[in-house]
Amino acid sequence: MWFFRVAKKQRRRIPPRIKEELYKRQDGRCSYCRIPFELPYFDIDHKLPVVIGGADRINNLQLLCGPCNRRKGALTDHEFRHIYELLPAWLTWLPQREKPQARFVEIEKRKVAELRLARERGRRKRFRSARKVIVIVGTLAAIGLTAFPSGVSGGIFESVAEFSQAVANMVSSLKLLGRP
Ligand SMILES: [Zn+2]
Repeated sequence: MWFFRVAKKQRRRIPPRIKEELYKRQDGRCSYCRIPFELPYFDIDHKLPVVIGGADRINNLQLLCGPCNRRKGALTDHEFRHIYELLPAWLTWLPQREKPQARFVEIEKRKVAELRLARERGRRKRFRSARKVIVIVGTLAAIGLTAFPSGVSGGIFESVAEFSQAVANMVSSLKLLGRP
């Protein structure tokens, strides 16, 4: 069955001469952090991961240091470069500075903070519109009570007690929404 073939292909070993060739091409440096390492320290990475159809061809392979390889996981080369603010693949012939792992961690922290901020902003916006609705409904209810005092048929509230209950409900709804 086809998935057995795929699984077998994933586990195929890449010959050592390919690793040596990549080492030469990359000047002994990790593709991402650009830090030089000894050959055995490098992992062979598929730029386009095998799980999404990446081939074992040398043009789809690169050497990454352990930390960069773990960070890349199942991302494509393009995605990694985009997320970690590296030069796109077609510009890698340009001289590039070494990037310590701390730099990547910094980028991750900043992106998580940005995401949180965006979510918080969205929550505040929803809070304000919900509050507006509650205030409008409450105001209309109060007008209803004034215009049609207790006992008068057609009033929104039959009694002051009913009105206070409605106000209490409104207050608890506001509390449920939480403060932004
Ligand atoms: Zn690296």
